[in-house]
Amino acid sequence: MSETALRAALAKSGAAGIGQISIATREDGSFALTHHEDAARDDLALYANADDAAQLSRFDDAGNYRPLKTAPSLRHGWRLTVPDHRSLDFALDLFYPGRLAAFLAWDRGRLVTTPLRETLQRQTGMYRPAAKISDPEADGLVGSFCRSDGGCLRTILWKRDRDGSPASTLLPPEKFDPAHDQTGLGRPTVPLLCQEACNLLVAEARKIVKCGASADSDTSSEAGEPRDGTHQ
Ligand code: SF4
Repeated sequence: MSETALRAALAKSGAAGIGQISIATREDGSFALTHHEDAARDDLALYANADDAAQLSRFDDAGNYRPLKTAPSLRHGWRLTVPDHRSLDFALDLFYPGRLAAFLAWDRGRLVTTPLRETLQRQTGMYRPAAKISDPEADGLVGSFCRSDGGCLRTILWKRDRDGSPASTLLPPEKFDPAHDQTGLGRPTVPLLCQEACNLLVAEARKIVKCGASADSDTSSEAGEPRDGTHQ
């Protein structure tokens, strides 16, 4: 993403942050990033390389690995200062991979979304059984796994089927509204958009199917990762 595009993304939403990150613009043109709950703290560990975002986003406060970067579990206690838009772009892409680009594509009407059923149907190998998840099971899975309070801060744009069935009837309408701050704070924010089910959700769908299947149904020995989706 170009510097101009990043600036446009932030300006477009009137946001001073994205996800759980607050972004303060300094007089010298640099940017200071913190967990939004730490913005007023002056006892933070200081970082000055955009690369540090990779480490800062990897583990939660308890030291647990964060397989889903958009989970509401960003660690506290740090301030990352970056000198310009280019490094801000780089750092944010480490915190939330691909999300600013998705926002800009969506804003330009170019973001392609994929229904859950299509994502599941294209799975191969050990993840192929995920496609057998029933509609009620999928409804419950998405309603639990993707919820903003404890699950994922992305705004869901995909449907369950081509016929437009909602991703889940168990999620509130604002989960599908890019104008809503999924952190629940009501701030202007660049939304973290979800254009198709991620690999983690696919893996959970497989688990549900396998748990519901007869004991001798798991005969596949193929290994691998779920296909496509955004596992970040
Ligand atoms: S499918 Fe989307 S909203 Fe659900 S957990 Fe994965 S990235 Fe988050």
